[in-house]
Amino acid sequence: MASAGLPHIRHLLGSEWTTTGPELLEHISPSTGQVQARFSGAGADEVDRAVAAARSAFVEWRKVAPAKRRQLLERLSALILAARDELRDIGVAECGTPVRQGGGAVLAARYTAYFAGWADKLDGLVAPVGHNALDYVLPQPYGVVAALIPWNAPVPSLGMKLSPALAMGNCVVLKPSPLAPFATVRFVELCQEAGFPPGVVNLVHGGADAGELLVGHPGVDKITFTGGVATGRAVMRTAAANLTPVTLELGGKGALVAFDDVDADRVASDAVGYSVGTLAGQACALPTRVIVEQSRYEEVASAVAKRFAELRMGDPADESADVGPLISADAQRRVVGIIEHAREHDNATILIGGGADGGPSGNGFWVEPTLVADVAPDAAVVQGEVFGPVVTIQSFTDEAEAVALANGTDYGLSAFVYTEDLKRAHRVARDLEAGYVSVNGFAYLPPETPFGGWKSSGFGREGGRAGVEDFVQTKNVYIPIGN
Ligand code: NAD
Repeated sequence: MASAGLPHIRHLLGSEWTTTGPELLEHISPSTGQVQARFSGAGADEVDRAVAAARSAFVEWRKVAPAKRRQLLERLSALILAARDELRDIGVAECGTPVRQGGGAVLAARYTAYFAGWADKLDGLVAPVGHNALDYVLPQPYGVVAALIPWNAPVPSLGMKLSPALAMGNCVVLKPSPLAPFATVRFVELCQEAGFPPGVVNLVHGGADAGELLVGHPGVDKITFTGGVATGRAVMRTAAANLTPVTLELGGKGALVAFDDVDADRVASDAVGYSVGTLAGQACALPTRVIVEQSRYEEVASAVAKRFAELRMGDPADESADVGPLISADAQRRVVGIIEHAREHDNATILIGGGADGGPSGNGFWVEPTLVADVAPDAAVVQGEVFGPVVTIQSFTDEAEAVALANGTDYGLSAFVYTEDLKRAHRVARDLEAGYVSVNGFAYLPPETPFGGWKSSGFGREGGRAGVEDFVQTKNVYIPIGN
């Protein structure tokens, strides 16, 4: 059962759509708190069948001409683009993503088109082993890739994981989050429409149990996982049983470092737009810690607070809403708890926000955009990923302190530098411990660039050449040719 307009939640095992499975799950609307679908999580049988279908399809899929794989992915990209309004509306219903933020289909289509281009471009190399031998290195697909994605931006995640895996000749078993199962169903329908053969793309639903079954399955050759740090550790532990290689795209706690030469309004606009103004702060790569040079601190803090006050919380289906609900009642409670802890335990000043709100329905999961000041660097709100509309603001006195504060968490996903001083921008970018640094702006992870973490934010890359190479293993072939 699913509310009108939302796809019917089913597994795709080879060519068979099915709703079987031992675990009964519900999807709750973040905007209304009402159940909008009941569906089954996959058990061992569904996972076995999905992996078996992928293994069997791989026999022929690996032989498909690279140019043909490119054409299929190009078709998929066009279909995603054509379905962008539909995917956007699904995002409004399943994640509470404000309609004006678009839902990510355009980005997913760009990723898919980009990786389509790699399908017939990634070449091997010849190794210089000497006159009397030929040695070449082949990039080859792993076989069956298990792709586990988080709830917060399912459509871009699919473009980042599914498309390169397919481009390189792998078959895939997808497992979306039970908090956002609908968009992936529609995406997989689009894959079928594009003409991928049965078994090349498979789908199982479910939570931790289904995820563990998939990750621990001996028929899986490679795991690509995006989610939280604790889950990433669990995935790695489960994968260790079969020594299955893993890529982990984990959480972040991005710092935005603003030096004394910045335009305060510009910094405030970016700091707020890229954090709380994007998915209500529920994304990994956002700048959620603003770190400002002491001489400009008051000015920037009040400019940021002013921007916070201008944000409109509201029904995500309403074009005027900037900030939608959090994904669940649990998330709402957790985020309010973090704010309370900062206020009561860490003596933080809440410059604006701090409360929960039921939204227009009275039963939704909103939290007011919240700006937290006067916090010590080791406070929980500074150290941990909040995954909600909460930003901290701190000050520094020199470049060394700015870098130390920015690097002072376990995370290392993204970082942002604002300055007009070119040398300083490059110096600080060099010294930041993050896989993705943006200077004086943010491009929202274009597909040509490799995105991924340092430290506890994980390893492996999505996007760019590195994002393609993540889905191949090399084979060296040595042939003596002397007499
Ligand atoms: P999560 O870790 O709870 O879940 C991620 C996926 O793992 C889901 O499909 C979930 O069902 C599955 N899962 C849960 N337990 C599992 C287990 N024991 N074994 C196997 N699979 C399991 O994450 P979430 O709440 O869906 O997403 C939010 C997190 O994702 C945040 O930490 C965010 O920063 C991170 N994230 C990272 C990136 C990135 O590219 N680095 C992008 C988006 C989100």
